[in-house]
Amino acid sequence: MPTFPSSTVLGYPRIGPDRELKRALESYWAGRTTRADLEATGAELRAATWRRLAELGLEGLPSGTFSLYDQVLDTAVLLGAVPERYQEAEDPYFAMARGTDGLAPLRMTKWFDTNYHYLVPELGPAFKLDSAKVLGEVREARALGFETRPVVLGPVTFLLLAGALERLEEVLGCYEELLAELAAEGVAWVQLDEPALVADRSPAELEAVRAAYDRLGSVPARPALLVAAYFGDLGEALPVLAASPVEGLALDLVRGAVPPELPGKVVLAGVVSGREVWRTDPARALGVLRAVRAGQVVVSTSCSLQHVPYSLAGEDGLAPGLRARLAFAEEKVGEVVELARLLATGDNPPTVPGPAPAASPAPGSPTSTTSTTSAASPASTASPTSPASTASPISAASTVSPASTVSPASTVDGAPARSPYAVRAAAQEAHLGLPPLATTTIGSFPQTGELRAARAALAAGTLTDADYDALVEREIEHAIRVQERLGLDVLVHGEPERNDMVQYFAEHLDGFAVTRNGWVQSYGSRCTRPPIIHGDVARPRPITVRWARYAQSLTERPVKGMLTGPVTIVAWSFVRTDLPLREVTHQVAEALAGEVADLQDAGISIIQVDEPALRELLPLRAAAQQDYLAWAVAAYRRATAVAADRTQIHTHLCYSDADQILAAVDGLDADVTTIESARSGARILDGVAGFTRGLGPGVYDIHSPRVPSEAEVEALVEAALERVPAGRLWINPDCGLKTRTYPQVEAALTTLVTVARRARAGR
Ligand code: GLN
Ligand code: ZN
Repeated sequence: MPTFPSSTVLGYPRIGPDRELKRALESYWAGRTTRADLEATGAELRAATWRRLAELGLEGLPSGTFSLYDQVLDTAVLLGAVPERYQEAEDPYFAMARGTDGLAPLRMTKWFDTNYHYLVPELGPAFKLDSAKVLGEVREARALGFETRPVVLGPVTFLLLAGALERLEEVLGCYEELLAELAAEGVAWVQLDEPALVADRSPAELEAVRAAYDRLGSVPARPALLVAAYFGDLGEALPVLAASPVEGLALDLVRGAVPPELPGKVVLAGVVSGREVWRTDPARALGVLRAVRAGQVVVSTSCSLQHVPYSLAGEDGLAPGLRARLAFAEEKVGEVVELARLLATGDNPPTVPGPAPAASPAPGSPTSTTSTTSAASPASTASPTSPASTASPISAASTVSPASTVSPASTVDGAPARSPYAVRAAAQEAHLGLPPLATTTIGSFPQTGELRAARAALAAGTLTDADYDALVEREIEHAIRVQERLGLDVLVHGEPERNDMVQYFAEHLDGFAVTRNGWVQSYGSRCTRPPIIHGDVARPRPITVRWARYAQSLTERPVKGMLTGPVTIVAWSFVRTDLPLREVTHQVAEALAGEVADLQDAGISIIQVDEPALRELLPLRAAAQQDYLAWAVAAYRRATAVAADRTQIHTHLCYSDADQILAAVDGLDADVTTIESARSGARILDGVAGFTRGLGPGVYDIHSPRVPSEAEVEALVEAALERVPAGRLWINPDCGLKTRTYPQVEAALTTLVTVARRARAGR
């Protein structure tokens, strides 16, 4: 068996420590630079990453984890899955990623349970290997003095993502060829990522895994094979891989269990989390490492580090006590290296991971009874050294206040109920008097350059709060006037005060910290800066009320208040792990309930609580899904149940893959549900048609700069009217308008209002 370096990571961030790739991509797309310039930036970023990893003492360096846009798209190119219609484009790669004037891009969706988006491969009649990128990066690293382990998405996951596992035989031909080429290149190990194997897999799919790796294992001259499965436990796929000829397995030992003995295999023990930003407890990690029985045990991360920011360097705005408990990608590499040293020497680690004092949960708080069984801290199940009553590693350094306001577990999941819908609907009708086919928007209006510049100036201290607030008020007034002129029925203030729908609330709630440069790639050049939930969440004062009240003061028409829901706030944050996720979510819900009550008291009669990330946190294994949906729905209802009967609660969801969770969406019990559907058409419509409350399937695809024609919008409205009575149907765009321009928005909304009025008149 070939040996493996003693420490490695499964992948690394690639957007650049200062988002260099983002800027390079955007200037290439704008035509200011050439493809060669872009490639040069990519090469610099790769070189800097390898150098840095080596400098930090990491022994096993990956290659191929860089991508100009997306690793699944790269795999599609590797396998020749470039649909014919893109081949003539000036730059087929980016045509697939982003579309062109005449071509829609490939469909994009979320990568397992993360907020990273990949492009869904579309397979052509045949596969054809194009190994240029994989081999190119191996050679590039070698020229810099580094031997690397190329990382490629594995055949089973690739085909499952493409929805075409039946094409396994064909695609394996390409992988065989690739292995031969890598062997000829002198590559010792190749990593094949198979995250799809940590979800439930049918016997036929497991048989495909067996067949695939038996076949790749029997390629005569090949590198050693490392199959990497992450985001959970391999479960029933583990024995299949254990019995296969693959030489190595990379296991997620943060979320998954220590495996039974794997004689003769190299096991990459993923004990440093790639999904959280907390320091690893070295004692716990070492306990896990020492419990793994295998041919060789290598210290690794649980998954690629692409899901965490680059480095804590420069984050001096964080409270020192918090900062000392954090580890971003660079710091995590340091942990991997140190753990490998401890494992090799048999030395003992320091007993306390961070300088913060140990937490003492409030007496009777649910922490002590539920945290170790929660999906939020599965780490404890993987640790053979910590008894079940020990909290997850992070609690040792957390700041749980003894005065915690968390309710007992029994009330956390009891979904509070409002009056029956019929009662609410009558009260709302009397109070609001809205017409059938009422028109509205999803919340945000275009964010102007002036606004973004002002926000930057405010952060830099060159603009006063008062001047900034005055600008926000002008933007609100503008948005209100535009909506009145266009004739919308329910107005919004336009969200000009928000940089981001989660970050804004994080900045105004206790228990959250925000970073200066903690960017994480969301897709392509898009990054988010997830806030960090490190303590008990509370709302010290109203957050959005002044803006909503101001907007309402400008108009006779109802203005809809706009909040981000509890599940979405936790989904798009890095969450403390010493409390179960459901309890943190519940705390956020309590804080939002206060905001709902205050908006209502301020005279706001319609309040929208967005939950676009409800689907994202759905556990990968079916066994855990019902439980999640129950507490997620309960949290939403906790946030909204304070609304009086006459206050109309709206919710909003994005993404066509909401189909899987429609029963839960119905369970939110919102008076009106708006949902993205302009592109997915009848499928989503059929799914939601059974809802008995208000429904607003999107009739304007806001993702594209195109202004839809009246005929297009009319067709969507007609299709909706076939399934939903006019009295309950709302006419609205798919999502918020903040990425569009005012001229686009005004044209599209004019169409929407015209179509709605015509449809109303025709009834
Ligand atoms: N209210 C938000 C907006 O309009 C909703 C965004 C979202 O669903 N992602 O921008
Ligand atoms: Zn949306």
